[in-house]
Amino acid sequence: MDELQEKRRRIRDLMQYAVPDEQRAQADDLLIIFRDDRLALTVLDEFYRYLPEAQDDWIKELRLVGRKAGIFLLAAVTSLDAYLYLISSEGIEFHGSMQEGYLEKELLNFFDFPSAELFCEQAGKIENFPVYEPIQIDFDTCPACHAATGEEHELGCPIEVCPWCGGQLIHCECRFAQLDLEEMTTDQDLIHFEELLQQKGRLVYTPEQRPTFADEGPGIELE
Ligand SMILES: [Zn+2]
Ligand SMILES: [Zn+2]
Repeated sequence: MDELQEKRRRIRDLMQYAVPDEQRAQADDLLIIFRDDRLALTVLDEFYRYLPEAQDDWIKELRLVGRKAGIFLLAAVTSLDAYLYLISSEGIEFHGSMQEGYLEKELLNFFDFPSAELFCEQAGKIENFPVYEPIQIDFDTCPACHAATGEEHELGCPIEVCPWCGGQLIHCECRFAQLDLEEMTTDQDLIHFEELLQQKGRLVYTPEQRPTFADEGPGIELE
């Protein structure tokens, strides 16, 4: 069983306890919409595992509050409130309820909110934030590292294109030629390579780099 499948199964189990019977079909629909979206599934998993109000509740939809460099601030909108989750491929953190209208200064800055007051004002109406689209249909997100169009990939992302040869950066041989090494063995090699890459100019994510899901092409693995 693959990892996402396992996640979906666990969420379905948790939902049995948290979601009132009458809402079960709607709650299931969301799980189907986000079946291949790792970030969304992680939010669902976290929510149903730790139910913020410690009572029955269910997620109606996800809204995108902020995003930058593969890090997302998502709001899980439930029957009671909306809850903030900071999420990336590295992990998830709970950041309280939208009704509180509070976000740490560090996050306000990171996601370019002009002020705490403005965030609080916007948070008062969840419709101020767009609905979060699943990764399969959101072409402005790198399906592997979640960089946005125009942002650099996370180093090691299989979608990143090599600026020297135009091939797949994690598979081409350019790193050895650039470093003049037979193989890369130390962290120092990696740091040095990253510097050379920055000097050359990294190729940012664009939707054209996206492998089509029907034909992922040679060597491209999304998971
Ligand atoms: Zn990427
Ligand atoms: Zn190359």
